[in-house]
Amino acid sequence: RIPVICIDGPTASGKGTVAAEVAKRLGYHFLDSGAMYRITAYASLQAGLVIDASHETAIAQLAKSLPVRFDGGRVYLGNEDVTDAIRTEEAGMNASRVSALPSVRTALVDLQHGFQRLPGLVADGRDMGTVIFPDAPLKVFLTASAACRAERRYKQLISKGFQANINDLRADLEARDARDSSRSVAPLKPAQDALVLDNSTLTIEQAVNQVMNWWLE
Ligand code: C5P
Repeated sequence: RIPVICIDGPTASGKGTVAAEVAKRLGYHFLDSGAMYRITAYASLQAGLVIDASHETAIAQLAKSLPVRFDGGRVYLGNEDVTDAIRTEEAGMNASRVSALPSVRTALVDLQHGFQRLPGLVADGRDMGTVIFPDAPLKVFLTASAACRAERRYKQLISKGFQANINDLRADLEARDARDSSRSVAPLKPAQDALVLDNSTLTIEQAVNQVMNWWLE
């Protein structure tokens, strides 16, 4: 059986960074499931679809045959490099809208399962432990206070040369979490057997070490 480590949690809790580093240390593959929803939203808008329930079938159809490719830290949709385009706050909000459509979630299941390869997988998202890999031997729910998450996102954006307003960022991430937690399918919540890690006052190194310790225990 291929080992899977799930790292779920709210927006900007540091899951992506922690999951990627754990994968690197273990030499495991890495699944950024949020990218699937971001790319689906991006592709839908490009196809002229409005992201709402009335276009659910068309969006799910598109998601099922998404020509997505991860290569050397870049993400491609067909031949287009969409790495930067899918990382904006707006793209995150669109991803959250698309992810609330049940048949879109179903359409992306096989794609996500396909990342399970030897020697192992670290999967980052909202429902890795609850829905996609329910038998995973280690499930971590990484949280942090809204204030911390907004501050982290703010610093991240500023360091990349973007303009940002910390209050707007906090309002946006709280709105996204509210939608992700209240949707009918796969709402954001810790799996019953998840270990909860509050990342508010931890460094990346400390959070990674905690996950590694749990894994090697
Ligand atoms: O993690 P990231 O911010 O890239 O995710 C973007 C959005 O995709 C989330 O706000 C959430 O709505 C959705 N998502 C999801 N299930 C996942 C990963 C992401 O619903 N496993």
